[in-house]
Amino acid sequence: MASEKEAALAAAALPADSPTIFDKIINKEIPANVVYEDDKVLAFRDINPQAPIHILLIPKVKDGLSGVSKVPEAEERHIEILGRLLYTAKLVAKQEGLEDGFRLVINDGPSGCQSVYHLHIHLLGGRQMNWPPG
Ligand code: AMP
Repeated sequence: MASEKEAALAAAALPADSPTIFDKIINKEIPANVVYEDDKVLAFRDINPQAPIHILLIPKVKDGLSGVSKVPEAEERHIEILGRLLYTAKLVAKQEGLEDGFRLVINDGPSGCQSVYHLHIHLLGGRQMNWPPG
């Protein structure tokens, strides 16, 4: 498997509007372990978990963000969906029993090791986190 950095560099080299694996998950073309779904947000377990609980929260319609695949592309009109993603993270953390705490992460661009260009929040929990992250 490609290293995290290699995967991030490969993803950054793709055309900006390329469909991603997350589009296939949204469209039910490939399976995912879904833990939460409403009309705007989908949350599913990460295929390569970095903690006992590792869930990804994504806007269901990339166009709901009008093509925003990463944080720096966000505009003021995206505030509602950005807030909804964060609020849903709270709901899912509670659903997963993470009363003692958890970590939310957004990787951005090649330096941030973003490997899927469909905006997403990582929800990590179930173990003691360390700081600084790698
Ligand atoms: P990032 O590197 O921040 O862009 O995060 C992308 C995440 O998507 C990684 O943690 C991958 O393990 C995860 N991922 C990639 N493909 C799938 C998939 N088919 N199902 C669930 N998670 C996936």
